[in-house]
Amino acid sequence: MIPITVVEFGTEEEELVLQVLRSGSVAQGPVVARFEEAFASLIGTKHAIAVNNGTTALVAAMEVLDLRPGDEVLTSPFTFVATLNAILEAGATATFADIDETDYNVTAATLSEALTDRTKVLLPVHLYGQAADTAPIAALARQRGLALVEDTAQSHGATVEGKAAGSFGIGTFSFYATKNLTTGEGGMITTDDDDLADRLRVLRNQGMRARYQYEVAGHNYRLTDLQAALVLPQLDRYADVVARRQANAARLSEGLSGIEGITPPAVADGRKHVWHQYTIRVDSTSGIDREAFVEHLHSEGVGAGIYYPKLVFDYDCYRGRDDVHIGTYPVAERVVREVVSLPVHPHLTSDQLDHIVAAVASAAARG
Ligand SMILES: *Cc1c(COP(=O)(O)O)cnc(C)c1O
Repeated sequence: MIPITVVEFGTEEEELVLQVLRSGSVAQGPVVARFEEAFASLIGTKHAIAVNNGTTALVAAMEVLDLRPGDEVLTSPFTFVATLNAILEAGATATFADIDETDYNVTAATLSEALTDRTKVLLPVHLYGQAADTAPIAALARQRGLALVEDTAQSHGATVEGKAAGSFGIGTFSFYATKNLTTGEGGMITTDDDDLADRLRVLRNQGMRARYQYEVAGHNYRLTDLQAALVLPQLDRYADVVARRQANAARLSEGLSGIEGITPPAVADGRKHVWHQYTIRVDSTSGIDREAFVEHLHSEGVGAGIYYPKLVFDYDCYRGRDDVHIGTYPVAERVVREVVSLPVHPHLTSDQLDHIVAAVASAAARG
């Protein structure tokens, strides 16, 4: 089976992890600080604050906005469940705006339509490795006096007109095992705002400014030096990794163009896609049954996945809650029935890329 993700570390990671082990300082320390500095430089923000996962990054980003019960966070219905869970954990109400047909992200136009008197935060998700059209979203937030939090868990280093996703507002990132950069579990918050950065650093460490000096009821959201040691060498190699993902995506798109019923992913003008996922659409009116299509790919040894099989709120545990406002989202409702993600990771061989293309063609031909 050609897996959809491969987690593989080099000797640089092994050496740095060993160094940390032998130093005896395995909690948050100097290696986390190095990671923060390197990551702020990748995203182009003044600050980067490391936390223990991408979900807590989102929760912390919203907690420092001083939201009150009933305040609404407006996000995408087409995202991983962590986005919604973080809004609820931060004590806010989740509302949703429809997505764009081609990049699968919310837009300034869809967000505008979904604003209410209670909206306090815009929370676009940069899905699959491609940034949302973020400049107009940031402009909308400024005009309306709203905060902007960007869920960038899948899009480390993606840019719009050269500006990184996660640098328009408060950026949140994940370093879970399957993400483009990983610490096993880990997260980061990026911001240019000195005051927010300061509050986030205090919040992640039990609300403690100096020893036993507590300013807020905080959390333990700390990352460890052992985890940070895993990712520093990956950051050095990241430009090459992204280039390989881009080359793989280009090969797949070339091979898949012209297959009846299959639409390869699109990269919007001015955007750098970092290909966390390579996601095709299987046209639901073409007669191809998506479930059978994916089963055929699996039988051909292609580890295809569906991200995500349902809209984020479409589960019993979210229905009927006062803090989850569910509407209708025609584009997202169609897209969620049609997406299939194919392997695009940097370890794919030329033969494997050819095999993926051939398997998609034969799966599509079977209907
Ligand atoms: C992975 C992910 C998260 C959560 O990150 P964790 O590190 O797993 O907590 C949040 N949002 C999106 C869109 C993700 O893909």
